[in-house]
Amino acid sequence: MDGSHNHPQAHELPGATSVLAVCAHPDDESFGLGATLAAFAATGSSTAVLCFTHGETSTLGAGISELGRIRATELADAASELGVHHVELFDYPDGALTQQSLDRLTTHVCRVADRVRADLLLVFDEGGITGHPDHSRATEAALDFARDTRLPVLAWAVSEPVAATLNEELDTGFVGRTAEHLDFEVHVDRGKQHRAITRHVSQATENPVLWRRLELQGDLEVFRWLLAPSKPSTICSTNGPLPLSDQSDNQEG
Ligand SMILES: [Zn+2]
Repeated sequence: MDGSHNHPQAHELPGATSVLAVCAHPDDESFGLGATLAAFAATGSSTAVLCFTHGETSTLGAGISELGRIRATELADAASELGVHHVELFDYPDGALTQQSLDRLTTHVCRVADRVRADLLLVFDEGGITGHPDHSRATEAALDFARDTRLPVLAWAVSEPVAATLNEELDTGFVGRTAEHLDFEVHVDRGKQHRAITRHVSQATENPVLWRRLELQGDLEVFRWLLAPSKPSTICSTNGPLPLSDQSDNQEG
């Protein structure tokens, strides 16, 4: 499945026992991944969130004192709306993740993934979705860990038409993907995501970009593998064992 194009997109999320979402800011797990985390939980997957920063420099809610502390509480409340079993919030400086040692960030991913016995990592698409460098850095740390362990990494993406419309209407820097780069197009129920979003009071109230994006997405979410599973992740056997050549790409940089 690596590198093949024009393959039909799957319409169901991949199976996973324990999903770890690796995020940069409190609200990424809800504004971005909320419907997906709720969907995984609905199928019986255990879900966890690792968040690297407290989001204390957000321009939204900038007048609020102790914004970082408030956002930590918002994250905990939102996570419970989404049925997330475990949250680990770190205190790296918001807006400066790219200046942090990748090894240190990767070590956190490793430890949390081990703690929750993750068999799937869920991240923001490379490019950071909104173009925020912190988002890209969080994904980089997840990938850095997963390359060594062969853990599959599923990226939440936005489609190119959605990104283009947002960028035109709202002067944003969304990075979208065309269909040939997407592996999944899944219908989701956004009920729990909406409830989780409202828990992020400091960020959700005056956020036209968020609401317009959700409107444009409708009930569809799109995803791409950054690291596809190296063997079938479900028990059903289809094509027999993979040839050895398919399992030898862990030397790739
Ligand atoms: Zn963010």
